[in-house]
Amino acid sequence: MAQRVSASDGGNKKTSRVRVAVRLRPYMPKQDEKDEGPCVRGLDSQNLEIINWRNATETVKYHFDVFHDTQTTQQEVFLSSVKPILPHILQGQNASVFAYGPTGAGKTHTMLGSPDQPGVIPRAVLDLLSPNSQDLPIREDKDKNILIPGLTHTTISSFADFDKHFVPATLNRTTASTKLNQRSSRSHAILLIKVVRTQRAAPRRRQTGKLYLVDLAGSEDNRRTGNQGIRLKESGAINLSLFTLSKVVDSLNSGTAIRVPYRDSKLTRLLQDSLGGSAHSVMITNIAPEFKYYFDTFSALNFAAKSKLIVNKPFTRETVAVPVLPVKRAREEHEAGGSGT
Ligand code: ADP
Ligand code: MG
Repeated sequence: MAQRVSASDGGNKKTSRVRVAVRLRPYMPKQDEKDEGPCVRGLDSQNLEIINWRNATETVKYHFDVFHDTQTTQQEVFLSSVKPILPHILQGQNASVFAYGPTGAGKTHTMLGSPDQPGVIPRAVLDLLSPNSQDLPIREDKDKNILIPGLTHTTISSFADFDKHFVPATLNRTTASTKLNQRSSRSHAILLIKVVRTQRAAPRRRQTGKLYLVDLAGSEDNRRTGNQGIRLKESGAINLSLFTLSKVVDSLNSGTAIRVPYRDSKLTRLLQDSLGGSAHSVMITNIAPEFKYYFDTFSALNFAAKSKLIVNKPFTRETVAVPVLPVKRAREEHEAGGSGT
């Protein structure tokens, strides 16, 4: 019998948690017309704080599995969030990596990146989307299974194959990513990598593992922002799928899931066998530090947070010369041999 359950699952039908990482992109003066400075900042590798809009003398502190501060490189994000799950896929297990967050916060940068700074997708073993592919309709069969007819499907069985497909895609990536970006606020971009592994010796057992890499639609309320002339029906579908995804993640992470509401949206039905259960899932929540994203950042953090805490301490701008959090800074400087970086 095929061994599907890893040791850490203890042989139970335990649903695994979705690891939650938050990535804060660098402050961009262009995105801050009123010159207000950042309203979010990192504290350490698991915590950040944001100004409390109800009371500017307070901050709200959030705790996550991982926090990637503004200086985190693409390589570091890949090594920390994606590389550790690749061996599970080779063992025939499923996995998914999502980028969540408002438009402009860095989802596409994280997942796709640029030729200079390739993201998670080109760093993982790739199946490739054709740059001029049409929209693919999602269909349902009579058993409510989700099907995507016409999905680009490329078999890669050696590194030479990979290279052959990867190079043309690299050349096309600038155009591809521009096109993706124009549409990404109102559509989910989903890449599925299937790894089929056949044992050399009898009984030549086959194992198939699936990895979904997902650049989600913008989490901002499209109806509120009137985003890119978005049609009401479309924004309703986006809101439903992201709302259902948040319920699914909550339900998996609360550990008390009686019913995980996968069937409430097409997105979660499609991802069902790669999210929770014995699958390994990571959600990278992308946020931006400028005030114009404030409410979208807040709602993205509330979606992603393991816990939050109101801290009675004014948020100090990084431009201020007086060191913020003097006690902690002093300790860090001490530990770092006084380099004070
Ligand atoms: P989204 O896909 O969430 O709408 P993008 O990935 O398009 O956001 O990012 C918006 C802009 O910010 C882009 O110009 C992108 O290059 C830049 N950006 C995002 N994240 C980072 C980062 N970590 N470092 C540098 N630039 C970033
Ligand atoms: Mg995008």
